[in-house]
Amino acid sequence: MSRVLCNRCKRMMVPRVIFSRSIAGGWGWRIGGGKPISSCCPFCLSEHWDVVVEPSPLRGSVLMKVLSIPLTLIMFTLLFGASNELASYMGGSAIVQWIGVIGSVVATYKFGRWFVN
Ligand SMILES: [Zn+2]
Repeated sequence: MSRVLCNRCKRMMVPRVIFSRSIAGGWGWRIGGGKPISSCCPFCLSEHWDVVVEPSPLRGSVLMKVLSIPLTLIMFTLLFGASNELASYMGGSAIVQWIGVIGSVVATYKFGRWFVN
């Protein structure tokens, strides 16, 4: 891969490919997504590294921040439910349940950060 100059942070970088989002179902299944839709700078995470003037992005707007709250809660519920299902399937193991809870919190936090980014 050749290195290009990022117009946002003025660093030489290899653009990182962004894949389209997929929907997380129960049991860790994912529906759709996975198609490369864009690329961003690995340093400043700007998708508009190749343009001099950044267009006002939809992501990061107040609307998206407000929308992210119910979406994050829904995602946490789904993940938490899936991990509980898994724990009871594994014989109600407390360790599996805790891993599920921690995993849900981490995944939800990462999702929230990514969504409002
Ligand atoms: Zn950059």
